[in-house]
Amino acid sequence: MLNEAWKRRLIHIAHSGTGSHFNLKTKIEYPKTVLGQKIHQSNIMSHSFPWLHKIKGTVLKNEILAPYTSIQIGGPADALIFPEDIRDIQTVLKNIGSHPLFVLGEGTNLLVSDRGLRGVVISLQDRFKEIKRPLFFRKETGNRRAVIKAGAGVKMSYLAKYMARYALTGMEDLVGIPGSLGGAIIMNAGAEGTETSQLIRSVTRITPDGEIETLTRDDLIFEYRKTIFPTEKGIIIEAELELEEGDRTEIQNAMDQHLSRRAQTQPLTVPNSGSVFKNPEGDKAGRLIESLGLKGLSVGNAGVSIKHANFIVNKGGATASDVIRLIDHVKTEVKNKTGIELQTEIITAGE
Ligand SMILES: Cc1cc2nc3c(=O)[nH]c(=O)nc-3n(C[C@H](O)[C@H](O)[C@H](O)COP(=O)(O)OP(=O)(O)OC[C@H]3O[C@@H](n4cnc5c(N)ncnc54)[C@H](O)[C@@H]3O)c2cc1C
Repeated sequence: MLNEAWKRRLIHIAHSGTGSHFNLKTKIEYPKTVLGQKIHQSNIMSHSFPWLHKIKGTVLKNEILAPYTSIQIGGPADALIFPEDIRDIQTVLKNIGSHPLFVLGEGTNLLVSDRGLRGVVISLQDRFKEIKRPLFFRKETGNRRAVIKAGAGVKMSYLAKYMARYALTGMEDLVGIPGSLGGAIIMNAGAEGTETSQLIRSVTRITPDGEIETLTRDDLIFEYRKTIFPTEKGIIIEAELELEEGDRTEIQNAMDQHLSRRAQTQPLTVPNSGSVFKNPEGDKAGRLIESLGLKGLSVGNAGVSIKHANFIVNKGGATASDVIRLIDHVKTEVKNKTGIELQTEIITAGE
């Protein structure tokens, strides 16, 4: 029996050929199956990123993205970069030209295509994880509040527990969201009636021309599972959150309750990418899908979770195309039987 590390290695080798030289563009695709996963090896011809050596952080070429996503699906990125600092990000932006650039958070709301992502993928998982000590201040009302600056790569669950240590209330509802702060801001992630937007004081990002830009909450528009920025593109590097002082025991108890409720209602032991569909106005996507008897329905190795109908799980070796076909099928069924058009919440990336 091969262990997980070996399986990943084999799949990686099959994807990347010898992996000795980094090239881009003009691909001839060879569909293959390795250990049950359909993959596509890129026969890549000339055109490289000659500037990659300027990056101080880690650069992985032809890196398979499946292990970087919670649903464990996705082909290779031409280059996956873990920047060491802001300068590294600016180097990427300065040199990327017309090649695609994708920012990867914790990959918990993401479906990467089987062919993977062309161009450069940036992950802030290595650095950009600093949390500054809370700065307390007193409001006119007498309440004590605090401002906390955190890197975009910090995990939301870690941040929520950090706030609890300082008896800061407001984030306990979000403790079960498995993504990064950067991803939570983009998605305006929310749970138990609280949205990330409610905590935001400012967001700092790097614009496509390499400028560091700080936006206050008034510059942003928050919608259901979406934050709208004044201009579209940018890489969030950090944010300031503002929370109120509360009771540490109550905060801890609330977090414990949320986490145990999730464990009971969500398929947390099977790879998945969270809620697949947004809740339609006045209803729940999971309830609708379950009411049509679609729980357990599978395409290939992707299935509608038996535990929660708004989750699609990877039962082992599922491909992105299995998931897409299953999503389309569920959408069509719901549309035909209820007239409701479900919108996807998960982000799909790649060809
Ligand atoms: C088991 C499970 C439970 C979940 N429960 C919830 C829930 O209760 N509520 C909820 O809202 N969501 C939930 N999710 C979905 C997911 O965790 C959230 O949407 C989360 O905010 C995504 O963050 P991420 O870091 O994983 O982002 P990713 O999935 O990696 O990316 C999401 C998007 O954000 C962009 N992005 C990420 N980081 C940055 C950055 N630094 N700068 C610019 N763009 C960036 C990406 O390009 C992409 O477009 C759940 C997921 C799972 C697997």
